[in-house]
Amino acid sequence: MKRTRVIIIGSGPAGLTAALYTARAQLSTVVVTGKLLGGQISTTHEVENFPGFPDGTTGPELVENMRMQAEKFGAQFLYESVTEVDFTKGTPFRVKTDTEEYLADSVIVTIGANPREIGVPGEREFVGRGVSYCATCDGFFFRGKDITVVGGGDSALQEGLFLTKFGKTVNVIHRRDQLRASIALQTRAFDNPKMTFTYDTVVKEIKGADGVVKSILLENVKTGQITEKPTDGVFVFIGYDPNSRLFGTQLALRPDGYVRINELMGTNVEGVFAAGEIHDSQFRQAITAAGDGCKAALTAINWLGERESQLQPLEEAVPAGD
Ligand code: NAP
Repeated sequence: MKRTRVIIIGSGPAGLTAALYTARAQLSTVVVTGKLLGGQISTTHEVENFPGFPDGTTGPELVENMRMQAEKFGAQFLYESVTEVDFTKGTPFRVKTDTEEYLADSVIVTIGANPREIGVPGEREFVGRGVSYCATCDGFFFRGKDITVVGGGDSALQEGLFLTKFGKTVNVIHRRDQLRASIALQTRAFDNPKMTFTYDTVVKEIKGADGVVKSILLENVKTGQITEKPTDGVFVFIGYDPNSRLFGTQLALRPDGYVRINELMGTNVEGVFAAGEIHDSQFRQAITAAGDGCKAALTAINWLGERESQLQPLEEAVPAGD
């Protein structure tokens, strides 16, 4: 079994920032990246709202730069997924990956949340080319276009209202005849002349040509009638699922499945910290996740510093910078 001072589960902006800080603090740091290095942001075509890039950047470029910066200070990357954790006996914590087993003095959990997909043909094919799960990230690319929003909750209406700043029209497709969103948001949305609503309707397929979205197939769930509607973009807001299942009952969760943390990013388990969308259902931005990662790392660094005399030597630990 390998030993390390810090193990970071997940490699989005929260995890990569945490790795930069803990590695730079001379703590041996292992990042278990998960299936997709960088997480959600690595699927974002253009990033124009991460400070420091006046000409914008791409998700993959941002992720690669963050990875290199953390690696420069000695962070180790394991391109695998965590399959099991044991936080029940306190520090050091046991963390199993696809092929390795670690004992880590502290853990920073940054495995995020995923926007729910509709699960229809064309959806995955056109992600970043007309299909989006983030209005803040992609709305700007739909100036003067006809936009479709899927969902009937607060996110759909709030993001739909934001999209009216860019789009010519914003049509909300909702599967029932009543919205779930708050009355205040509904009032604002109904008052907005760019917004229209299609009820009792689900998206059956997203169709495109020349690599971009052109239309959607809709089904009226009451009549069964299928229609094809031209659209330039499909924004899906049907909820998010935090990736907290891995922890079972070991970490305290909120009723919506997000990890509970204190103001110092600590979970209910001393020595286990959380950062980014695994706890944050509100902001969901790369920069807020990065800020969280920094905070979790600084707390972990202090926490380990206070216990320095009790920490076992890392004779089997991964040497920094190897
Ligand atoms: P949500 O409240 O769970 O709403 C999801 C919406 O998507 C619902 O209207 C649901 O339909 C629909 N939906 C779910 N699965 C679907 C599917 N497979 N196909 C089609 N439609 C589907 O999620 P959310 O809007 O992301 O909000 C999450 C939480 O954040 C909520 O507590 C919300 O209040 C909060 N939030 C608050 C604000 C704010 O206060 N301004 C803004 C954003 C989010 P049904 O209605 O039929 O179930």
